[in-house]
Amino acid sequence: MHTTASDGRLSPTEVVQAAAERGLEAIAITDHDVLSGIAEAQSAASPDLEVIPGVELTARWEGRRSIHVLGYFLDIGNAALQTALRRAEDLMAQHVDAVLDEIGQAGGKLRREDLDRYRHRYAGGAALVLGMLEHGVLRGAPPGTGFRLLRLAALEPRAYGVAQAVRLIHDAGGVASLAHPSRITRGEPLLSADALRPLVACGFDAIEAWQWIPGGWGSDHYRAIAQELDVMVSGGSDDHGKRNAKGQMRLGAQQVGIEVLEALRSRAQQLRADGLRTSQ
Ligand SMILES: [Zn+2]
Repeated sequence: MHTTASDGRLSPTEVVQAAAERGLEAIAITDHDVLSGIAEAQSAASPDLEVIPGVELTARWEGRRSIHVLGYFLDIGNAALQTALRRAEDLMAQHVDAVLDEIGQAGGKLRREDLDRYRHRYAGGAALVLGMLEHGVLRGAPPGTGFRLLRLAALEPRAYGVAQAVRLIHDAGGVASLAHPSRITRGEPLLSADALRPLVACGFDAIEAWQWIPGGWGSDHYRAIAQELDVMVSGGSDDHGKRNAKGQMRLGAQQVGIEVLEALRSRAQQLRADGLRTSQ
């Protein structure tokens, strides 16, 4: 689940309250590339709601493509993980400054402060695009300039590749799961085992088979793939605190059996005990 620490609409405390109202026994806070929502969520939770410290790392894959890597049961004080996340933030800040500079040179006006109102872990490509559109900074720019700047804004830097991201999670005592495989390739929600094999070989412990998909299909497919590739499964609502037309939130809409959680927990304990490390 996501909180206001990244792109969620609910604060960590509100996420915990909503989970408690729905009678959940455990939730994982997996904000994008930040750990800053976890402590608040853990202290807001009563003893009968476990808050699993997690993260969703945005990792580089095959050039420009991005893959989301989920980590669960993290030691959030792990120095290597904290350093990598800080580097990701620094790289993004440089990217934002460079694009703001280009906008200025093209005669547009957009400041860093203008981006703060968008809910993100920190300002990145999406905030730049929203800011440019909302502030109309490209109005009157020479033909083609707007398109070029929007494309430039969307080209976000990535601080880690997929195998590196998995390793960071393992080294921080966590298990790594491949997030929402149905969204990896646009227009191709049911990827084959062969298509996923090179990714899973980066050291993943699990793939997110139970995932929120309109209509609910897909889980059986990805559970079978997990079996074929000999990895575990994870699942979740990927809640961002948004409500649909009926006023419902995703939170709690994709529940996962407690045995799935316990299997992942055992794996994390086993990894810690073995001191097992993934290869690059
Ligand atoms: Zn994601």
